[in-house]
Amino acid sequence: MSADLPPLSRSVEDYLKVIYALSEQGAAASTSGIASTLDVQPASVSGMIKRLAESGYVQHIPYRGVKLTDQGTREALRIVRRHRVLETYLSQRLGYSWDDVHDEAERLEHAASDELIDRMATALEDPRHDPHGAPIPTRSGDVETTDHPSLAEVEAGERVRIRAVRDDDSDRLRYMEARGLLPGVLLKVEARAPFNGPVTVRVGGEDGVAQTVGHGLATRIRVAPDEPENPS
Ligand SMILES: [Zn+2]
Repeated sequence: MSADLPPLSRSVEDYLKVIYALSEQGAAASTSGIASTLDVQPASVSGMIKRLAESGYVQHIPYRGVKLTDQGTREALRIVRRHRVLETYLSQRLGYSWDDVHDEAERLEHAASDELIDRMATALEDPRHDPHGAPIPTRSGDVETTDHPSLAEVEAGERVRIRAVRDDDSDRLRYMEARGLLPGVLLKVEARAPFNGPVTVRVGGEDGVAQTVGHGLATRIRVAPDEPENPS
């Protein structure tokens, strides 16, 4: 379907991916948000955004930032699919640990063809989530919605299941794994301190081990109310 499209440059791919990630929660992506995520100067972000708008990938939202157009979203989802299939393949087939796959996927996603990615996905029987719980867009560009609340927003007394965790910091992932904070795990929220204080959870449910999760970490853990799990 997209075989005859010219390949995008690496920096265009990185911008589309970052704008997609920043706007996943519904808001527009601001210039300053893009600049700090990509670790570049706001002035160079403005230049690139102008080019992306001229190419039809993004649309300006006055005073708020930019939003991907339908065309921009399609391209962003192709890159996100490449990244997440690579992470899953590295972890399931090549023995990488989940805290190690992100940087490798960041490099490979720009080089891998959609053909290679599709073959990897087929070899893995079309996984629906990457090792961090993030949904993998399908070949045709459909993706599960990801507007799950973070653990920091859950009230005491609720039972939730971890859906996804942020994948961009290996040390953080190792810390979480050591405490059993993995996608699919059930949490009973025991207490939530006010003023962005820590959240106390029981890992695995009522009888589980109590863990204190700082606010910063809790905002990086996406959860959903506990329901019978769909196989994935
Ligand atoms: Zn990643």
